[in-house]
Amino acid sequence: MTFTIVFLIAFIASFGLRHWLSQRQIHHVAINRDVVPAEFASQITLAEHQKAADYTIAKLRLGIFENGVSAIILIAFTLLGGLQILNMGLLQLLGEGVAQQIALLVSIVLISGIIDLPFSWYKQFYLEERFGFNRMNAKLFFSDMFKGLGIGGAIGIPLLWVILSLMAQAGDFWWLWAWGVLTVFSLLMQWIFPTFIAPIFNKFQALEEGPLKTQIEALLSRCDFASQGLFVMDGSKRSAHGNAFFAGMGKAKRIVFFDTLIEKLNPGEVEAVLAHELGHYKCNHIRKRLLVSFALSFATFALLGWVSTQPWFYNDLGVMPNPNGYNGGLALALFMLVSPAFSFFLTPLSSLASRKHEYEADGFAADKSSATDLISALVKLYQDNASTLTPDPIYTAFYSSHPPAPLRIANLKRFKSES
Ligand SMILES: [Zn+2]
Repeated sequence: MTFTIVFLIAFIASFGLRHWLSQRQIHHVAINRDVVPAEFASQITLAEHQKAADYTIAKLRLGIFENGVSAIILIAFTLLGGLQILNMGLLQLLGEGVAQQIALLVSIVLISGIIDLPFSWYKQFYLEERFGFNRMNAKLFFSDMFKGLGIGGAIGIPLLWVILSLMAQAGDFWWLWAWGVLTVFSLLMQWIFPTFIAPIFNKFQALEEGPLKTQIEALLSRCDFASQGLFVMDGSKRSAHGNAFFAGMGKAKRIVFFDTLIEKLNPGEVEAVLAHELGHYKCNHIRKRLLVSFALSFATFALLGWVSTQPWFYNDLGVMPNPNGYNGGLALALFMLVSPAFSFFLTPLSSLASRKHEYEADGFAADKSSATDLISALVKLYQDNASTLTPDPIYTAFYSSHPPAPLRIANLKRFKSES
C-alpha cells in the first residue's frame, strides 16, 4: 500500500504542476497579447505578435487536454488493472516466456500510439494548419507513421529481446549488462540514424556552390571544424518551421540545414546560426549531454534492477507478478509508465543546464561570426515560427531549453558592444 500512496502523491503533484504551469503561461501570454515588447517593436508587427500569442495558447490548450488524457491512461493501466488484464490475456495466449513479455510491451506501445493518433492528427491538420505551418497531407502522415512503426519494430524488438533475455538469465547484475547494451546501442545510433534512418524520411542534397557555401566553408575553417559535407534537407515537406542541425559524431559529422532556413535567412544569418550550432560542439555540450544521459541511464537501470525484485513494486501498482520468473517485461512496462511522474520534477535542472549552454553557444557565435547577424536571424525565426516573445518566467525556468527571446538578445547585444 505504501508505494501506492507514494505513487499517487507524485502522480497528482506532477499532473497538477503541469496543469498549473500551462495555465500560468496561457495567462502571461494573453495579458501581453496587445503590445509588442518595445525592443522588438521595429521588426515585429502587432498582427505577428498576436498570431504568436494565439499559436502559443492553442498549443498549450491542446497540451492541457493531452495531460488529462495521459493521466487517465496511466491510472487505467496501473491502479485500475489494465496492465494486469493485458498481461493475463497474453499469458493465456502465448504462455510464459520472453515472447509473451515482448508482446506485452509491444501492445502497450501500440495502445498508447492509437490513443495518441487523434492528437497528432489534430495538431498537424488543424492546429499547425490554422496558423499556416502545415505542409503535410494525409498520405505523408500515414506513410511516416508506418515507416516509423516498421523501423521501430525492426530495431526495438531485437533490442527488447536482448534486454529481456538478460533480465531473465544474467543474474542479479543483469541491469549492468543491459545498461552496457543500451549504451553501445545509443552510440551506434548516432551513426545509424543520420546514415540510414533519416534518408528514409527526407531527401538530403549537397549544398550548392555559391556565396553561401563559400561563406560557410570560411566559417568552418575559422572554427577549425572538419565536416563530412554540407547538406540541405527538405524540411519544407512537412512543416514551414525552420532549423539547422548537426548529425553524426567523430569523423562522420555532417552539417544539415533545413531548406526552410536557407529560404528565410540571408547568408550572413545562416552563417551566424551555424556558428551557434558549432559553439555547442566546440564547447563540448554534445559530449557532456551524452555523458549525462549515460550516467542517468545507469542510475535508472540500477533502480530498475532493484525495484523489479520487490513484490510491492508490482502489487502496489495493480499487477500480480508471475510467481516463477519472467517478469522482465512487466517490470519494464510499469517502470516506463510510472517513472515520468517522478522524473518530471528533474525537468528544471535539465532546462537550466540547457539554457546555460545556449548562452555559451551564442557567445561562441558572437566571437566567430557576428552577434548582429545572429540577433537578426533569431528575430526572423521567432517571427516565422510564431514563438512567443513574452513567456511566463516560472514556465520558462521550468521547461525552456532556450532563454526567452528578450534575455537572449540582450545578452548578444552585450557582445556587440564589446566588439
Ligand atoms: Zn543552441
